[in-house]
Amino acid sequence: MKLFSILMLLAGLNLSSDYEKNKGSIIIGSDTIQKIKYSTSSTYGINHQGRKAMDSDYNSNWTSDSKGPHWIEIDFSAKRIMDKIIIYPGKKDNYYTIKKFTLQFMHSDKWFDFARMEVPEAEKGFFSFSNKKNYKKKIEIDLGGIDASKFRILIPEDDTFNGYASIAEIETYIGSNKLKYFDDRLIGMIMPIRNGLLPEKNKHYPNAPRKYRGGVHAGLDILDYHDDENYKPVSVSKDTPVLAVKDGVIIRADWNYKPMTPEEWLNQSEYYRKNPRTFVKRSFGGIQVWIDHENGIVTTYNHLSEIDSKIKKGVRVKQGDVIGKAGNSGLIGEAEGKNYGIHLHFEIWVDGYYLGKGMSMKDVREYFTWIFLLR
Ligand SMILES: [Zn+2]
Repeated sequence: MKLFSILMLLAGLNLSSDYEKNKGSIIIGSDTIQKIKYSTSSTYGINHQGRKAMDSDYNSNWTSDSKGPHWIEIDFSAKRIMDKIIIYPGKKDNYYTIKKFTLQFMHSDKWFDFARMEVPEAEKGFFSFSNKKNYKKKIEIDLGGIDASKFRILIPEDDTFNGYASIAEIETYIGSNKLKYFDDRLIGMIMPIRNGLLPEKNKHYPNAPRKYRGGVHAGLDILDYHDDENYKPVSVSKDTPVLAVKDGVIIRADWNYKPMTPEEWLNQSEYYRKNPRTFVKRSFGGIQVWIDHENGIVTTYNHLSEIDSKIKKGVRVKQGDVIGKAGNSGLIGEAEGKNYGIHLHFEIWVDGYYLGKGMSMKDVREYFTWIFLLR
């Protein structure tokens, strides 16, 4: 009986992970409202999820398993206008997979065939080995100007070469404007600590509740990085260099920082808790550096133990430049003259709001994973 229920539990877990694998969403802007959902009939593996057909990377693709019919659906959750869809066929094991596909729209709760398209020179593509140019093969579908909230690409098994279906990119256009699936200002950031690891616990992500910092945690805590040789996690220390995540200009560098006493710290914490939205003379960020990356993106690096001598307001930095070292400044540990609590608190600000504001913890975690691991 016991074994049976464990088996049932395992079966349940499997089902839910399959579900997650085949379904997901991409956040376009900096909050959950701006979200596009996708789902697929099946997924060949974790590196071939539906999002790979929406990531503007022609070298990554959604790939199904071998059992058709295959489909990938994109759901905008609200009507939007579009006049062109462009499909870039993908490859599996260096070969193109699709001969034909059908574009369908949803009408009266039913999918109807809008256009049936052939992949030009599909036979030739099938036999040619991988080269990046081949990924640029594209099929344009002129929609003539329509509004719809969702569409899907259907590929019956007969329209594939060997059972699998693969799509590198799905683009939707209005005029010459490509609809954005995500905020491309956030693409290309590196981790602010070399080999930095994303934290395991929710409390280290934006939106986690805090007794200080106005009741909410606005950033990402990086506590560990992995060792080069054996990938073992190593704790961030006062010797750990902190790096600029992208090119930019320093807009704040706290050269005149003075630590708080434990009493000041507790008073300040209590004040901030009661007045979460007012200006605070002393935040808990300690020694901070802020970088403006232009176009509304600012990153902040908090609790530093020191700032690099070159880092001053107005100085231009390159991605990967050392701006200082990690520490525990601004935290109670520092106020007490102790070494505990050392980590990098890192924030991404988008158009004046911290990234993660208004998002569920699940979305926050997904978004940060996407920013740092999709590359
Ligand atoms: Zn933090």
